[in-house]
Amino acid sequence: MIHNLKQEIESVVPEVVEIRRDIHRHPETGFKEFRTSQIIKEYLKELNLDSIQECAGTGVIATLNDGKPGKRAMLLADIDALPMEEKSGEPFAAEIKTAGHCCGHDAHTAIQLGIAKILAQHRDEIPGSVVFLFQPNEEDAGAQIMIDDGAVEKAGHPDAIFGSHNNPTIRLGQFGVVPGPAMASSYYYKIVIHGKGGHGGRPHMAVNPVDASAFVLMAIKNMLTAEQAALEPTVITNCMIHGGEKEITIPETCEMQGSIRCLHAGHEKVHARFREVVAAACAINGCTCEIELKCGNSLLYNDPHLTELSARAIEEAFGEGCIVTEDVKAMGGDDYAEFLPYMPGIYIWYGTADDSGEWPGLHNPAYRFNEKAIAPFMEAQILCVMKYLEE
Ligand SMILES: [Zn+2]
Ligand SMILES: [Zn+2]
Repeated sequence: MIHNLKQEIESVVPEVVEIRRDIHRHPETGFKEFRTSQIIKEYLKELNLDSIQECAGTGVIATLNDGKPGKRAMLLADIDALPMEEKSGEPFAAEIKTAGHCCGHDAHTAIQLGIAKILAQHRDEIPGSVVFLFQPNEEDAGAQIMIDDGAVEKAGHPDAIFGSHNNPTIRLGQFGVVPGPAMASSYYYKIVIHGKGGHGGRPHMAVNPVDASAFVLMAIKNMLTAEQAALEPTVITNCMIHGGEKEITIPETCEMQGSIRCLHAGHEKVHARFREVVAAACAINGCTCEIELKCGNSLLYNDPHLTELSARAIEEAFGEGCIVTEDVKAMGGDDYAEFLPYMPGIYIWYGTADDSGEWPGLHNPAYRFNEKAIAPFMEAQILCVMKYLEE
């Protein structure tokens, strides 16, 4: 228990705002967060933590109370910007057009630095250790690269991980938390259908892979409605079909690309049937195919105990009704989920929407982060971690 936590947070907020605006003005995309990483390391150095390690290039892992008996909790903040031009209209908008913090990771980074500062000031009162992980390239599966570079070992095998994200569709002062499957696994597929090229006037002499792609689409849709349990949300979206170059020529191949998303643990079964169904749809058209499936994000599964504990910690501080569970689950993903095979975790959405204006959604060029959310975001994170370490 940290006494006067609210006042302490208030005293750190101006610093957090300053850091976040500075990072915002200088956005850096995945694995190019050199300046951001430098700011993080320099700030953490001042806090006298037990270790500050680099991971996967621009990633940073810092530990407080290393070796202290008790549990080890890890907090994760993503640090990358998107490769897009922001149109927020903020006075501290990005100085470049090729990158923009339109997902609020600038705020996530600064907030986690503020949390590290407060916890470092109370290191003796913390009954365990805390790891602060700053992750590059969240927007394109950077977590796995960090894990491959030994993030779990460098972090000293934490007992639990706390992830979070700002959310402009949730009211300021409210928090989105659900137990179990919270964000879908997403796998990207690429299908190359092989036919036999020929003259458009003599289709019987050729094998048309473009025709086959239409069968593939119908077969996928049919598989979803006929086979997939309605209570296990599954989405397959085909977003690209490329085949042919001329209206009178049947091409040799046709390519299809899209994603398979499962908000349940049965994704392997779905993938296996997907492969069978696509191959069969190609076969009845006389075509063969190659199917590639690449993991975008794994299923984000909130540990039920950590969910309950976090919701309780937040409710004690912010009152009844501050926890929202409706419309919190998503078919989108966060690569935070890649850490979950190594430790249980909880992912919390922090509401940022208030009455003062419109808060465009994440990845919208006009997106703005509501700085009024900084204090509640910090307080809730600290309370959840402390409750976990104290129980
Ligand atoms: Zn994003
Ligand atoms: Zn994000």
